[in-house]
Amino acid sequence: MTETTSTTPARHAVVVGGGIVGVCSALYLQREGMRVTLIERDEPGDACSAGNAGNLGIASCVPYSLPGMMWRVPGLLLDRTSPLNVRPSHFPRALPWFLRFLMAGSHKRVEEISEALRSLMRRLYDAYGPLLDDAGARDLVHNVGRLQVHESEKGFAGGRYSMDIRRRRGIEFQTLSGDEVREIEPALGPAVTAGYYIPEASHCVNPSRLVKAFAECLVRRGGTVLRQTVKGLEDGADGAGCVITEAGRHSADAVVLAAGAWSGPLARQLGTRVPMEAERGYHTMLPNSGVGMKIPVTAADRAVSLSPMEHGLRVSGIGEFAPIDAPADWRLARVVVEHARRLLPGLSEEGSYDWMGPRPALPDGKPVIGRSPSHPWATFAFGHGHVGLGTGAITGRIVGQLVAGKPPEVDLEPFRPDRF
Ligand SMILES: Cc1cc2nc3c(=O)[nH]c(=O)nc-3n(C[C@H](O)[C@H](O)[C@H](O)COP(=O)(O)OP(=O)(O)OC[C@H]3O[C@@H](n4cnc5c(N)ncnc54)[C@H](O)[C@@H]3O)c2cc1C
Repeated sequence: MTETTSTTPARHAVVVGGGIVGVCSALYLQREGMRVTLIERDEPGDACSAGNAGNLGIASCVPYSLPGMMWRVPGLLLDRTSPLNVRPSHFPRALPWFLRFLMAGSHKRVEEISEALRSLMRRLYDAYGPLLDDAGARDLVHNVGRLQVHESEKGFAGGRYSMDIRRRRGIEFQTLSGDEVREIEPALGPAVTAGYYIPEASHCVNPSRLVKAFAECLVRRGGTVLRQTVKGLEDGADGAGCVITEAGRHSADAVVLAAGAWSGPLARQLGTRVPMEAERGYHTMLPNSGVGMKIPVTAADRAVSLSPMEHGLRVSGIGEFAPIDAPADWRLARVVVEHARRLLPGLSEEGSYDWMGPRPALPDGKPVIGRSPSHPWATFAFGHGHVGLGTGAITGRIVGQLVAGKPPEVDLEPFRPDRF
């Protein structure tokens, strides 16, 4: 990424973090007429936003903590092939998070959370549209719908609760037999016995390239991308904020904290405590998979996604709770591939490679979007968990509105930074 300095004489905003949430915030701040500096310690789009399954759509409004989860968690933790993993040494630290997670799974809270997520997701196309056009990146998003598949009557029955939530949120879907699923996606084998087709769903075929295209667009429009590590945030002069990096101090009228799973300690410097965990996900890219998938598939009984990308098939899943900087446990990527093998006969691993990245996970499954309760120059935009790709652009647009002093288009009460 080339560094250029803006010449636009406008209020200055600094965005911390160059993932999907940070770049979308930066672009919308620029659209509000601000001079924008994005500070990212690596390349934009190299962290969590690089490796996701690419799913965009309102159907993702169902949270992960659901009624009955309390009885499932112990079994999931003991099963090596389950989507949920906690490193034993990390368990005491993660325990309070899990208790909050389970408390978020009551019928009442699930309805509230899914409605809050819907309020963001229903605007996702509208919010992404102008950014995709500006960045010349329309080709990265395909509107082909999504399949959710099941492999047993028990699994199908288990998925019904989630589909009922979707129905109540006004999301359309069709119920399919195994053969009808295979008519839509012939790569799926006989293990699939039933499923759903969700037409209003899109798919990004290279999430990392999307973030990089947005960052390049930011620079083209006069913004600045600095490759530095933010060490601290503090009050600056005259009501402004100050961002401290290894290279110096950056004064800004507005600072947006969008550092994904790394946001917790920086928010704490500003007096806001959030129960953030790094929920580490894994994927394997299969550039020569040999199965030629046409449409993204969520294998709901296995919590694994099968995503056709522009550079091969991506199979992803797992929520591993471990310290954010702990080395990856690549056996978990193998677990995901083994799940995919059960669904896709003839899957080839030739030339495959693995990836791990931390989802910024808050226990109620909702992001934090809003002004810092104590520092008016700071705005928080982090904790997007499993849905940061789908909600990145609308979060960015809301950030732009907040910083520009306009009323936000979404009720931000459910996303308040001080709700924990
Ligand atoms: C396997 C997997 C599948 C997923 N599938 C989907 C999906 O299908 N759909 C969906 O919507 N979401 C999905 N997600 C979730 C989605 O990827 C995340 O919610 C999203 O990427 C979070 O974006 P972010 O910008 O908040 O964080 P990140 O992408 O992690 O960006 C944060 C950035 O901040 C930078 N940073 C941190 N600290 C500092 C610092 N001190 N100084 C400077 N820079 C700093 C980091 O380097 C990083 O680049 C998936 C996630 C995983 C792991």
